[in-house]
Amino acid sequence: MKFAIIGGDMRQAKLAELLAEDGHEVSAFAMEKITLAQGVLQCASVKEAMDGAECVILPLPVIGKEGVLNTPLSRETHMLGEIFENVNDDQLLCAGRIDKNTAGLAEKSGIMLTDYFAREELAVSNAMVTAEGALQLIMEEMPISVCGAKCLVIGFGRIGKVLAHRLAGLRAQVTVSARKYSDIAWIKAWGYTPERTEKLNGRLGDYDIIVNTVPSRILNEEQLKQVKKGCLCLDLASKPGGMDFAAASKLGVKAVWALGLPGEVAPVTSGAIIRDTIYNILNEREEHM
Ligand code: NAP
Repeated sequence: MKFAIIGGDMRQAKLAELLAEDGHEVSAFAMEKITLAQGVLQCASVKEAMDGAECVILPLPVIGKEGVLNTPLSRETHMLGEIFENVNDDQLLCAGRIDKNTAGLAEKSGIMLTDYFAREELAVSNAMVTAEGALQLIMEEMPISVCGAKCLVIGFGRIGKVLAHRLAGLRAQVTVSARKYSDIAWIKAWGYTPERTEKLNGRLGDYDIIVNTVPSRILNEEQLKQVKKGCLCLDLASKPGGMDFAAASKLGVKAVWALGLPGEVAPVTSGAIIRDTIYNILNEREEHM
């Protein structure tokens, strides 16, 4: 197959190289700040890159901070319109974390966009890498070993589950909080100490490490006042996050908000996760044809 990779960070760069390693024809555009491995054709225009490609892969997130295509590896600014002008009906156009504006623009242009970030397999695999990144941060930030440390994981979703298992594997004393009774039962079944997320207030003073995975404010000033001296409060949740960082700073609580860990700690694995997800999308498309 021919793939075109347009913009993105090191994850998309690695994705391009991995697709080429799999024997595909791969062209890339808006990554001129780096040199990609042999086998990836770095193009001077979107048109050249997309020409003849059966699958076009846009960044994750597709739109960057400036409201234009997310191209941190390019010196130029690129607009979505450039891509939409060059796409043809036979091409599969995939993008990550598609926002409302992008979806609206695509619809208006009669273009079908597939969000690879919305795929559960990608979210689960990302959770695995995020949990590893969290462990790395914990080890870097803490003067004590994980073995024996009293850890609270807030939330028992994808990241909460994997992180709890990893911490337990390192012989930490793991408590996990959740709001669903079924999750509480699973937390017990796995051998962790259960807590109710909504009842954490007044029960936070005993931990060496608290990791939040709930994308909603859980640790306000009142709760942060309760954590013991030296406790690391690590927030993994996307914006608006789960902790009041201004209050943490005022109280002298060691608080870290670590976002984008997959791309930061394991860009190659993150590229491979996107590649596998794209292959799954292509397989499903073929099955439905
Ligand atoms: P998830 O599977 O949806 O898990 C979220 C957990 O939070 C679930 O246990 C959910 O409980 C709980 N929850 C949600 N809202 C709640 C509320 N208002 N009160 C109490 N509990 C609540 O999500 P995930 O994949 O683990 O990701 C967690 C967060 O990390 C997300 O914000 C995600 O975007 C972010 N993330 C961060 C990184 C990084 O590098 N830091 C990487 C990937 C993802 P229920 O099941 O009861 O709803």
